[in-house]
Amino acid sequence: MQITEIYKSLQGESTHAGLPCVFVRLTGCNLRCSWCDSEYTFHGGRKMSIQQVWDEVKILSPDGGLVEVTGGEPMLQEREIVPLMKCLVEGGYQVLLETSGERPLGSVPAKVVKIVDVKCPNSGEPDTFRMENLNSRANS
Ligand code: SF4
Repeated sequence: MQITEIYKSLQGESTHAGLPCVFVRLTGCNLRCSWCDSEYTFHGGRKMSIQQVWDEVKILSPDGGLVEVTGGEPMLQEREIVPLMKCLVEGGYQVLLETSGERPLGSVPAKVVKIVDVKCPNSGEPDTFRMENLNSRANS
């Protein structure tokens, strides 16, 4: 998969705010939101295997904890990111997935917390949200 960066910091959002968290930030996004603060993820990055990402997460947080998979849009690399999330969950990590809501989420492991954006009219991408993502049965 194509990775922009992997680093450890404090989670700044959601009910997990304030907790230590490893961020796995994937390269690439198919949207161009007007307020995007992650444009540096649109290009570049480095190719990493699932094993290499796992190894880096293990070094940063050897005893489990929080891992956020983000981007860019991580679900554009579904074929690799879904098995990675499964590995992390099975390895005892609590996994958060931050996604634009434009991609299908049915393949995301049930134990992953999905943080799904809904783009409002001024985003520049208001019609991209996939309504089926609101159906919890499609995401379990
Ligand atoms: S979905 Fe996220 S990464 Fe993509 S353009 Fe919008 S804000 Fe930026």
